[in-house]
Amino acid sequence: MADKVIMVGAGLSGAVIGRVLAEAGHAVTVVDTRAHVAGNCHTQRDPDTGVLVHVYGPHIFHTDDTQVWDYVNSFETFLPYRNRVKSTSQGQVFSLPINLHTINQFFGRTMRPDEARAFIAAQADQTITNPQTFEEQALAFVGRDLYEAFFKGYTEKQWGCSPTDLPASVLKRLPVRFNYDDNYFFHKYQGMPQNGYTPMVARILDHPGIDVHLETEFDPDTAKDWDHVFWSGPLDGYFNYKLGRLGYRTLDFEEFRAEGDWQGCAVMNYGDADVPYTRITEHKHFAPWEEHQGSVLYRESARACGEDDIPYYPIRMVAEKALLRDYVDLAASARNVTFVGRLGTYRYLDMDVTIREALDTGAAWLAARAAGHQP
Ligand code: UDP
Repeated sequence: MADKVIMVGAGLSGAVIGRVLAEAGHAVTVVDTRAHVAGNCHTQRDPDTGVLVHVYGPHIFHTDDTQVWDYVNSFETFLPYRNRVKSTSQGQVFSLPINLHTINQFFGRTMRPDEARAFIAAQADQTITNPQTFEEQALAFVGRDLYEAFFKGYTEKQWGCSPTDLPASVLKRLPVRFNYDDNYFFHKYQGMPQNGYTPMVARILDHPGIDVHLETEFDPDTAKDWDHVFWSGPLDGYFNYKLGRLGYRTLDFEEFRAEGDWQGCAVMNYGDADVPYTRITEHKHFAPWEEHQGSVLYRESARACGEDDIPYYPIRMVAEKALLRDYVDLAASARNVTFVGRLGTYRYLDMDVTIREALDTGAAWLAARAAGHQP
C-alpha cells in the first residue's frame, strides 16, 4: 500500500527523495515556504537583461560521482563550465586556487614546479606538524605571506572570527597546485545547467505521484498526520529552537548592474580585510554560452545569521558542536521523521553530495519499508 509522505522543502534533497519515493508508488507531497522550488540553488532570468541569476549566490556543479552526474543530466542539459576564480589582493589580481601562476606572480619569480614546491616548503611553518586550526593549516601549507594575502582577511570576513578559532577542515576544501591548472575544482565532471537549476528541480518534481505546494508552511505538530516526514529545514527549527539556536552565517547580496563586461570573470574574491565584501559575482559568466549586453552583479558579504535571515553556512565551532549533539539526539528520538540536507543535518554540503545522500536516503527508506519496518 502506498504511504503518504511529505517532503518539507523543495530543494535538492526534497525533490530527489520525493522522486525516488513517487517512482516506487508512494504519494508524495512537497511543501516549501518560498514561492519557487530549488531552494538556495534557485536561478531566475533577469527580466531586463536576460541574464540567468543565481539568486542565492553562485552554485557550480562539480562531482566525481558518475551516477549523480548522469542523474542531473537526465533532467537538464549541462554545458561545459570551468570555475576559474580570481582574487584581488594587495593591489593586484591573482589566479586562484593558489597555483604556479599565483606563486610566481606573488613572489616575482619564474619558478618551475619543483622549484616552487621547494620554495613554498621553505615558506611554510615546519614546526606545525598537526594543524588544528585554519591558521595553523594555512601556515603549514603555504606560509605567512600567501596566508595573509589570500586567506586571512577573506576568512575573517566570511566567518566573522579569527582563523585561529576555525577548524583546519575549512581550508582543506582548497587545493594548492604547483602547475598552471587554475580550475577551482578537481572533480571529473563540472558544468552548468543550460537553463538554470530551477527548471532542473521542477523536472525532478514533475511526476504524477508528487504534489507541490509553494508558499506553504509545515507545522511539526502535524507530523503524526503523515506516514513519514522528510524535513530539510533547519534541524533546530523542527524543535522550535527549544535548546537554543545553531549558529549560521548568512549572506547579503548587494545587486548592481552594468553594461558589457564589468569584471571579466564570474567570481572575483577580495582578500584584503579592509574591503568590506568577500567577493563579486558577475552572473552572465556562469553561462558563457549566452550573450547579453547588460550585466547583473552581486557584491557578497557574510554576517551572523539573525532570526529572520536565511541560514547559509553552518558554523560548527565548539559551542555549536555540543548543541548539535543534543539536537541530533532529539532527532534520533523523533518518530517517522528523517532529517535531510544541509539545514536538516547542519552540514556544509555541496550539491552533488546532497543529491548522492538524497538518492541513498530514498533507497534506504524504500528498503526498510519493503522489509516491513516503519523507517
Ligand atoms: N577562502 C579564503 N580565500 C579565498 C577563498 C576561500 O580564505 O579567496 C577560505 C574561506 O575561509 C572559505 C574557505 O576557504 O570559507 C573555503 O572556500 P570555498 O571556496 O570552498 O568556499 P565556499 O564554496 O564555501 O564559498
